[in-house]
Amino acid sequence: MPEPLEKKPKETKVHEAFIFTYQPAEKQKHLDRYWSRIDKRGPDDCWEFYGCILSNGYGLLPIGKSGRPQRLEPRAHRLAWVIKYNMLIPKGLCVCHRCDNKICCNPSHLFLGTIKTNLVDMHMKKKLNRLNPKKHTEKKQKEEKSI
Ligand SMILES: [Zn+2]
Repeated sequence: MPEPLEKKPKETKVHEAFIFTYQPAEKQKHLDRYWSRIDKRGPDDCWEFYGCILSNGYGLLPIGKSGRPQRLEPRAHRLAWVIKYNMLIPKGLCVCHRCDNKICCNPSHLFLGTIKTNLVDMHMKKKLNRLNPKKHTEKKQKEEKSI
């Protein structure tokens, strides 16, 4: 029987790694650009990113010229996690939002999970929203008051 072809793991660029590899001045320049695009509010509020937003709804901080191999495209929320914990996101994990707001960069709204955890979390929240008509009732009351 022929040996199964060994699958080479796909090299994926760790876009957030510049935090640890760039010279301090260069790193600070990009971090300043990053924070200038975040609406930093109270500790429990969403800190929304107002930079480049991808079609999938996540924020992006482009670093370097487009098309160049050195180009980095760290996702805004992932960057928030890396800055807060001062470490790279462990392989195989993703940064998920407790608040379901994809452009939110408040580290206290972020947690690490697998793709599966994230999907289960999203599913549970959708289910809870359906089971909890409170939001709908509040909206209805507001509408009634404004009449
Ligand atoms: Zn949030």
